[in-house]
Amino acid sequence: MNITSSEIVISAVRPAQYPEGDLPEFALAGRSNVGKSSFINKMINRKALARISSKPGKTQTLNFYLLNEALHFVDVPGYGYAKVSKSEREAWGKMIETYITTREQLRAVLLIVDLRHPPTSDDVMMYNFLKHYEIPCVVIATKADKIPKGKWQKHLKVTKQTLDFDPDDNIVLFSSETGLGKEEAWTILESMM
Ligand code: GDP
Repeated sequence: MNITSSEIVISAVRPAQYPEGDLPEFALAGRSNVGKSSFINKMINRKALARISSKPGKTQTLNFYLLNEALHFVDVPGYGYAKVSKSEREAWGKMIETYITTREQLRAVLLIVDLRHPPTSDDVMMYNFLKHYEIPCVVIATKADKIPKGKWQKHLKVTKQTLDFDPDDNIVLFSSETGLGKEEAWTILESMM
C-alpha cells in the first residue's frame, strides 16, 4: 500500500476517546528507543509524523493515525523505560490491556524488536500477553541495516527462539534506514484488513 495521506486524529487515554467507525486498525508496540517511530514514519512515507525519540516513557497516550482515510495505526507508548514510576507503569498496563482486549477494529499488533539483540524480557512479556488474548501479532525485527546480511538469519533464529515464536505469526526483517521489509509488511497488513 502506498500511503498518500496521514494525520493524527486523536491522542486517547480512555476508550470513549477512541475514533468511531469500523476502519481496520493496527497497533504498534515496542520498548522505548527500539525504532518504533522510525518504523511508523517509514511505513507512511513521512519524515516525522511519529516523533522520533520523543522523551521515552513520557507519552502515555494511544496516538491514532488515520492513513489514506482507510485504516488506523495506533502508536502505543514504549515500554521498558527504567525511569517510569510503578504507578505510571501500572497505568500504562491498564490502558494497553483495556485497548487490546476491547477494541473490535484491532486486526493485529505489530511488535517491534531490535534484530541485533535477543528480545528483552519486556518484549517476551508483551508477546506472551498477545498470545494469551489471542491477538494476531506481526513481529517486526528492525535495524537490520546495522548487522551484516550474512548474519540476518542467525539473528532471526535467536529472536524466534527467545520469543517462543508461534509459526502461525509473521516476522519481517526491517530497516527504517533502507526501507527493507516495507513492501512485505504492507502485504501482510493488507491481507489482514
Ligand atoms: P522509538 O523510541 O522506538 O520510537 O525509536 P526511534 O524511532 O526514535 O529510534 C531510536 C533511534 O534508533 C533513533 O536514533 C533512530 O534514528 C534509530 N533507528 C531507528 N530505526 C532504525 C533502523 O532501522 N536503522 C538504523 N540504523 N537506525 C534506526
